[in-house]
Amino acid sequence: MADEPNDATPFLPERLSLKALRDAASGCRGCHLWRPATQTVFGEGRKASRVMLVGEQPGDKEDQAGEPFVGPAGRELDRGLEAAGIARADAYVTNAVKHFKFEERGRRRIHQTPKRFEIDACRPWLDAELDVVKPEALILLGATAAKALLGSSFKVTQHRGELLDSDLAPIVSATIHPSAILRSRGDAERAAEREAFAADLRAVADALAG
Ligand code: SF4
Repeated sequence: MADEPNDATPFLPERLSLKALRDAASGCRGCHLWRPATQTVFGEGRKASRVMLVGEQPGDKEDQAGEPFVGPAGRELDRGLEAAGIARADAYVTNAVKHFKFEERGRRRIHQTPKRFEIDACRPWLDAELDVVKPEALILLGATAAKALLGSSFKVTQHRGELLDSDLAPIVSATIHPSAILRSRGDAERAAEREAFAADLRAVADALAG
């Protein structure tokens, strides 16, 4: 990819508003990931959202719909937010990387984890979303989002559900990506994962209320 650009910065609009950002991101060519994907999947939610949730990247369904967290993982996220008492209308949801990275196997498109240089290329969009929304609470969903914003040595497995010391927002926490719940083996494990995920989100809801 040596001849490809690797920075979204030139595509950012002069005026930072969610609409201007979303419109500009639709034409982003800041890295190679736009080529095979259907469209940019920018964050969704109100500027006044108190909570921002950041995942890894759009999946197959999100790539087709052009909206984040509308597939099976999104349904798990909705379930967790409801259990934690966080209104989806009060949550801005986005991803560290705005284009779907995948490999084709037959007719299926299989998710591929974005590499560091791809996450870095896309970071200006996430920074701009944080600038505009200024969430009271920031929840990082999964290792990719957590490492992107908290550093590559951060381990979600060691710190999930904790309230973290960070300048990113008054309340910062990291937990699993809801797609991990979908990979559970059996109903009992799935129920336990759902409960643990909801508990991590509830800790943030409690901090917001407190
Ligand atoms: S992944 Fe991010 S930086 Fe790369 S083209 Fe898409 S929006 Fe731009």
